[in-house]
Amino acid sequence: MERLTGQQVYNKLVEAYGKPRWWPGTPYEIMVSAVLVQNTAWTQVEKALAAWGEPEPAKVLEMPVEQLQETIRPCGFMKAKAATIRNVSEWYRGYGFDIEKARATSLDRLRRELLGLKGIGAETADAMLVFALHKPSFVIDAYTRRFLDRMGYGFTDDRQIRRFFESGLPADYQIYGWYHWLLLEHGKNHCGKQPTCDGCAFSTVCPGRIL
Ligand code: SF4
Repeated sequence: MERLTGQQVYNKLVEAYGKPRWWPGTPYEIMVSAVLVQNTAWTQVEKALAAWGEPEPAKVLEMPVEQLQETIRPCGFMKAKAATIRNVSEWYRGYGFDIEKARATSLDRLRRELLGLKGIGAETADAMLVFALHKPSFVIDAYTRRFLDRMGYGFTDDRQIRRFFESGLPADYQIYGWYHWLLLEHGKNHCGKQPTCDGCAFSTVCPGRIL
């Protein structure tokens, strides 16, 4: 069976789910919430942020670490996440907490710097790059891997997945961001751990469908 291109998958997702959402918040808030959401439901992130107000990097760096841990408690792994948020804030201080200055830096350099911070893996780094730093670096998460696997693409690692998306689409951070939200939507609505193939937009072309 011929496989859909990255663009064809995107078009089908838009048809199925409509206008994609964007990651909410200020650029720094996006960076913080990209850390908070690791291994946690988004609702827990919302709970922590609602109580916190708008996090500011200079204040976070002045805050006693115990207070920071307490603030993010609803998201779990509070010690590790507090340490990571401080690492990110320190890194951001290197750019004078100036998002435009950070955005003026090359994607490769920013990605290297973020991946060099303890607690930041590829998925978190790419989410920060796309949504906060406006760089086209495709976000690959468990939903994306599972969906592509069931669709029969046979990718064996994230490098192949990245190539599939990035070579088939314009290098546009907005499209990458929208695509990520659409894949998330698809994972929640149909292609989760237990797929609900009935009514799925890909059911006629998906070799992994369960009918
Ligand atoms: S048909 Fe089923 S397995 Fe295939 S993409 Fe849809 S929900 Fe996932």
